[in-house]
Amino acid sequence: LIRMRGVGKRFGQFDALKNVDLDVAAGEVVVLLGPSGSGKSTLIRCINHLEEYDSGDVFVGGIRVERGRNLLKVRQQTGMVFQAFNLFPNLSVLDNVALGPVRVKKLSWDAAREKARTLLGRVGIAEQAEKFPTQLSGGQQQRVGIARALAMEPRILLFDEPTSALDPEMVGEVLDVIKGLAHSGVTMVLVTHEMGFARQVADRIVFMEAGEIKEISQPDVFFTATTNERARAFLDAVL
Ligand code: ATP
Ligand code: MG
Repeated sequence: LIRMRGVGKRFGQFDALKNVDLDVAAGEVVVLLGPSGSGKSTLIRCINHLEEYDSGDVFVGGIRVERGRNLLKVRQQTGMVFQAFNLFPNLSVLDNVALGPVRVKKLSWDAAREKARTLLGRVGIAEQAEKFPTQLSGGQQQRVGIARALAMEPRILLFDEPTSALDPEMVGEVLDVIKGLAHSGVTMVLVTHEMGFARQVADRIVFMEAGEIKEISQPDVFFTATTNERARAFLDAVL
């Protein structure tokens, strides 16, 4: 469903991504791990063209990700959940979730709000629908962020450190929601610093360092038996 070939991205003289090859199959859950600055966010942002890559090719569902008329088709297939929840502060929780389908899918507000209520139920915060984002806890806000991404019925969900901005006691509730989605058939690419969660949820772990993919393996292999020196050092530092 996602195909990256020889992808490079520079910021000035600095290579943030070097010759990245990655395939993600439909329904697969891929977790990106690696030290700070290794290019995880840049990689994920190249998938939906929040970042423009300089070389190579990225395809989503067979469509090349590039500026122009194809981009809308790519964006319609991908939902993104950010570290900073990026909710609209002046809209109710319900309307935060309903807005995308109204704007992009041309649903009526009534239909979109009905759908939004269902999704808020799915992430466990149906009773918060009429509040505004600032009236929610961080964990609840991030669950709104997830419901908002789901409202677009994406085939692919991209998560960039969805729990990093949360107080520790709220991390679990958000991870539980993501776990629930992981095996619902949606394709996921996710950056996280939660190693236990990564091991549980991932079909494959992609380890990055200095803009390159250094290892791709099954989680059990990665966490217990990686032979990659860099990955070993990373795990020793974080576990
Ligand atoms: P972290 O774990 O800290 O989020 P990361 O693996 O997500 O790190 P990226 O955000 O992808 O890392 O950044 C990769 C490299 O590219 C970093 O060295 C960063 O400083 C650089 N970089 C990222 N965005 C920009 C930008 N807009 N302009 C210049 N340099 C950038
Ligand atoms: Mg990042």
